Amino acid sequence: MKFVKTPPKHPALLVRISDDRDGDKAGVGRQEADARALAERLGWPQGELFVENDTSAFKRRTVKLPDGSTGLRVVRPEFRRLLEAITLGQVDGLIAYHLDRVARDPRDLEDLIDAVEQTRIPVESVTGSLRLSSDADITMARIGVAIANQSSRDASRRIRRKQEELAEQGQYGGGGARRYGYEADGVTLRESEAKVLRYAAQRVLDGASVTRVCRDLDEQGHRPVKAEKWSSRTLWDQLTSARIAGLRKHRGEIVGEAAWPAILDRDTWERVQVALNARRSPGARRELSHWLSGLLFCAHCGKALPANFVRDGMHRYWCHSGTRYGGCGRIAIHGPGAEGEAERQVVEYLTRPDVTRRLAEVTSRRGAERARTDLAEDEAQLRDLSRMWAEKVITLDEFTEARRIIQQRIDGAQAIQLAQVPEVARNVLRAAHPGESFAALEATPKRETARVLLSSLGFKGWTVTPHDPAKARRFDPTRMTLADVD
Ligand SMILES: [Zn+2]
Repeated sequence: MKFVKTPPKHPALLVRISDDRDGDKAGVGRQEADARALAERLGWPQGELFVENDTSAFKRRTVKLPDGSTGLRVVRPEFRRLLEAITLGQVDGLIAYHLDRVARDPRDLEDLIDAVEQTRIPVESVTGSLRLSSDADITMARIGVAIANQSSRDASRRIRRKQEELAEQGQYGGGGARRYGYEADGVTLRESEAKVLRYAAQRVLDGASVTRVCRDLDEQGHRPVKAEKWSSRTLWDQLTSARIAGLRKHRGEIVGEAAWPAILDRDTWERVQVALNARRSPGARRELSHWLSGLLFCAHCGKALPANFVRDGMHRYWCHSGTRYGGCGRIAIHGPGAEGEAERQVVEYLTRPDVTRRLAEVTSRRGAERARTDLAEDEAQLRDLSRMWAEKVITLDEFTEARRIIQQRIDGAQAIQLAQVPEVARNVLRAAHPGESFAALEATPKRETARVLLSSLGFKGWTVTPHDPAKARRFDPTRMTLADVD
């Protein structure tokens, strides 16, 4: 269900006075000013102000509902007057400050949804937390209000027990052997082993292979939990486990901070994941030696062009039609020619102050931290959700849908963080001559840096168009055009 949005003629602005300290961060004057500013941005006329005095929350009384029936609701005369104005058509748009200014009781929200579905008026909020323009919006609004509602009550003994159950699922994952780095209780650090994991992580970040680190650990006399010797598999599993970053997984998905202490801080752990992922595929080594792998795309089918070997050690990038690649086989471009042109363009970008400033912003620690804050909020929400589902505050369908939406945001935030990680990109920027510093890089860091630079500009790489037979057989740089991020 999608509502058609037409600019309203008589919008309403809803602000709320509350005696709830947490919920009243912005005073009424500030709420009104922000709501009016939003109206102006949206091109809406200045509408009628509804000031709700919500200091008597949780006192209930029979009220008339939008569908004409009656029900027991918290006494909110201004909110009821607003709903009536909406259903009578006196108000044809709504700007609220924040979701919790609109509805604390989930039933109030349902009444608002009813009114909006009947009249199809546009609804906006200053903090962006309330939208009712699609089914997904409505689900998120329901979840948000349910969380606010839940958090305003004391947790019952039953909720606490459920929380403990969930935490236990996260801690022990069904029992089994002791986790390396932790005592048998699963939550106490075994510092001698934690040190080993920190050391191994640092070695990987310094570029050592997992096999090499295993050999060194064996030589130094460190033993894994169940075996005599370290294997790549064992160490790989340890280093990629979310548990050592103090994160809790539930059904294969990270659902938030765990009860146990972290061995690696979040930043280090993520950098290790990036470093290990870059080595994951068996063919990675050969392909990565040609730095445009993953940055060139076929103009016909959109697939990435892997590097292939032709003859005399001269490579090309070809839309490989083999089953592993699934390309169309119709586009190929000369490797060294494409690399020269791509490098020329990247170096040119790196000499532009506006571009380097933007890249600096994207790759800065602060940028990464901001993404992390968003992520922490999303993860907290996810945690609340699983608790609410366990407590039957929301249905399984709502839980599944909301989790899908939040998980998408989390995946997105993680992708942003991972893209921000490469230190090599930061080093290029700090160099006296970023262009020269970039040109001198090895294939893998060069590719990572180019990828970060391009994505900060909204590009994912270059689209390669077919060779024009009318032109000479010489390399034709105009076949490469910058490709927008999907
Ligand atoms: Zn193709």
